[in-house]
Amino acid sequence: MSALNRRTALQSAAAMTMGAAVGTAATGCATPVGTAAVATPFAVPATYLPIVGSPMMFPVRRIYCIGRNYAAHSREMGSDPTREPPFFFQKPTDAIQNVAPATVADHPYPTLTKNYHYEVELVAALGQGGRDVPVERALDLVYGYALGLDMTRRDLQRAMGDEKKPWEIGKSFDHAAPIGPLHRVADIGHFTKGSIWLKVNGQTKQSADLSQMIWSVAEQIARLSQAFELQPGDIIYSGTPENVGPVVRGDVILCHIDRLPELSIRIV
Ligand code: MN
Repeated sequence: MSALNRRTALQSAAAMTMGAAVGTAATGCATPVGTAAVATPFAVPATYLPIVGSPMMFPVRRIYCIGRNYAAHSREMGSDPTREPPFFFQKPTDAIQNVAPATVADHPYPTLTKNYHYEVELVAALGQGGRDVPVERALDLVYGYALGLDMTRRDLQRAMGDEKKPWEIGKSFDHAAPIGPLHRVADIGHFTKGSIWLKVNGQTKQSADLSQMIWSVAEQIARLSQAFELQPGDIIYSGTPENVGPVVRGDVILCHIDRLPELSIRIV
């Protein structure tokens, strides 16, 4: 068990004990939200991101992802980037795989696919929520940024798309969201430009600049907040550049965004 998983398990165990102790007192009350004062028959681990420079952890509420947000990637997926409004999907929160800097994390090749793809992405993490947030105020919601991978069972995604069925099985599966630690805006600022690249076994596969996003992080937050009430703890995968491609067992992926620590996983 990793240190992070152990900590999560301990926190869940502590929450269970606390819940059991006060459970009787809470009888008849509505389920408390955001407290540990709930008795449960088993523990469900919460999902956290480490915060660089802080002893606290960032609790992840929802994972939003934007599709086709770099023009060249949009074209390689068969879309016309000049006409398409932004669209979003979600991954389950427990798809997060925390990856510590300067380590190579083992990442399991998922079931059912024969075409498993990487997508390197900047991830924005929200410390505040809102509805109908104007673009010019959208970045005020951002607590920090991380480097992430939107891992994709491309064959399943494409097959479902061809049948006009949901992408779910191609995007939302165990370990589908490897991510590095969170860097606070207060420490690192915002990301509107800078190099983003990905290598497999030392060979460059994806290489672009964050300024090439079709919809900026601020515009993504504004659009998302029209469809959903955003909440603290929501994180947003901001899209991948062109030249996505497959990996197989044994491959090592290395990801980079200027000013963030690199992220690396080995497919096992
Ligand atoms: Mn993506």
